[in-house]
Amino acid sequence: MEILRTIDAMRSYSSTLRQSGKTIAFVPTMGFLHKGHLSLMKKGRELADRVVVSIFVNPIQFGPSEDLAAYPRDEARDLEMADKTGVDAVFIPDATQMYPDGFQTTIALNALPGHLCGLSRPGHFDGVATVVAKLLGIVWPNMAIFGEKDYQQLLVVRQMVKDLDLDVDIVGAPIVREADGLAMSSRNMYLADDQRKAACSLYRVLTESKKRVKAGETRADTIIASAEALIQAYPETRIDYIAVCDPSTLDAVTAIDGPVLMALAVKVGRARLIDNMLLTP
Ligand code: AMP
Repeated sequence: MEILRTIDAMRSYSSTLRQSGKTIAFVPTMGFLHKGHLSLMKKGRELADRVVVSIFVNPIQFGPSEDLAAYPRDEARDLEMADKTGVDAVFIPDATQMYPDGFQTTIALNALPGHLCGLSRPGHFDGVATVVAKLLGIVWPNMAIFGEKDYQQLLVVRQMVKDLDLDVDIVGAPIVREADGLAMSSRNMYLADDQRKAACSLYRVLTESKKRVKAGETRADTIIASAEALIQAYPETRIDYIAVCDPSTLDAVTAIDGPVLMALAVKVGRARLIDNMLLTP
């Protein structure tokens, strides 16, 4: 597996491959890899000749009071996991290469960030769109793979690629969960043992809601009220949002008469957890 630490090295790796007609699948990550990340890499192996992973904790997508400094990092472990998963190259730039002095361009979306996580994380999705656009320019992949765990991020990236006419396919991949249902996340390491049960309430809420909608419940406010009660039964939780929304625009839905996205963000101790599920009547 190649380890590429400069933009020039990454570019020359990709252009050699592209000139020889090979296809590249790209998996952007912030590292501290887990099985969710590995599932994206495996998908990349199925879909393309080569898989490139980036590891970059992108400073411009963190707010001033968020966990940029504390974000977990373990490069040696990440490289071993990527290698074992059959990744061909890992791109690990540093922040001064990505954002040198004088950097001044931001990609800002008008509508999608006005929902869900965008409301409590102002500027977050512009930071995501900007770094993804840069990474796509540097890595020059045929396709890029993103997890549905970060559903809103996936929509933002798809929209940005469409709006800017970027020549890359955006592929979504399903959420990978722990045995108890908790969606895998690098931030799960912030959870103390006794917070784990509270963290699992997110998945319980989603599966309960899915059952109720399938059984005929059509009122989003009823679904949301039960979800709130279930989560608030754990005193260590603080709900950021629980939403039932249109899966493509993220606009709130009141009457459920087709597939809807249920999405939630809940703080459990230091960890801000997100999860989502499609509910179908
Ligand atoms: P991150 O390192 O958290 O920025 O995530 C990098 C990529 O992995 C994003 O596309 C995420 O959506 C995806 N991802 C993170 N956790 C999971 C999971 N549990 N299942 C599937 N994809 C995931």
